[in-house]
Amino acid sequence: MNTSSTGRCTLVGAGPGDPELLTLKAVKAIASATVILLDDLVNDAVLAHASPTARIVHVGKRGGCQSTPQAFIDKLLICAVQEGEQVVRLKGGDPFIFGRGGEEVDHLRAAGIDVQVVNGITSGLAAMANLGAPLTHREHAHGVVFVTGHAKPGDSGTDWVQLAHTAAQAKLTLVIYMGVSSLEHIAQGLLQGLPAHTPAAVVQNASLPAQREALTTLGELVHTVQGEQLQSPSIIVVGDVVQGARAWAAQPHAAQKAA
Ligand code: SAH
Repeated sequence: MNTSSTGRCTLVGAGPGDPELLTLKAVKAIASATVILLDDLVNDAVLAHASPTARIVHVGKRGGCQSTPQAFIDKLLICAVQEGEQVVRLKGGDPFIFGRGGEEVDHLRAAGIDVQVVNGITSGLAAMANLGAPLTHREHAHGVVFVTGHAKPGDSGTDWVQLAHTAAQAKLTLVIYMGVSSLEHIAQGLLQGLPAHTPAAVVQNASLPAQREALTTLGELVHTVQGEQLQSPSIIVVGDVVQGARAWAAQPHAAQKAA
């Protein structure tokens, strides 16, 4: 074990899954790490950049095990840095979009540890890019809301009715993370402020060979997700920009891709 006092921690975004979507900075950080802690949603392929001597710690729900408690992860990170290790905490997508990256940084800083952060491509961006459609468009969407469908226990969560009214008024695209398990509740709320014909898309495993997607409408969203058996990890996009994905899917290239 390295006993020098120059331990460091870098929180690194591993992107949505495709290892080619790593940033050069992420590759550098991974290559120089002596300890790497990684989440479930991080593709193991990114470890090809790691040193063969690096200690790799999976802290997700691998093999049906319980996810590692957050407090334990925080403790591991702090101890490793204090032992002088070059620690990389690899998180799926961008470390500061959901996934509790902010909480980890708070705990490290409270222990007097400075944390560097390397951005990653968040899955909400990758999902739409893989459908060939933008999230903003001068005609259809003036902005984007990244929102979680999964509230912290005890938190009442997002007011979907209010959000739908705001999205309709301000022409905003909604990009919903962790929304599959509460989809009925989410769709019910959104339908009170947005028309049922509002285009919607669901992308499971965005950017990975296992990617699956469905293009539908808000009114049909629940039915489509159930019928197509789409599951987590998925991004749900609601808004007129999804029309672009529909138009693209209708082109001859899409038929070739599906063949
Ligand atoms: N920090 C991550 C999000 C972590 S929250 C990011 O920036 O992407 C976990 C949720 O992210 C999942 O439930 C799912 O909604 C979404 N997600 C992560 N990877 C995904 C992928 N490859 N395809 C679709 N959704 C994904």
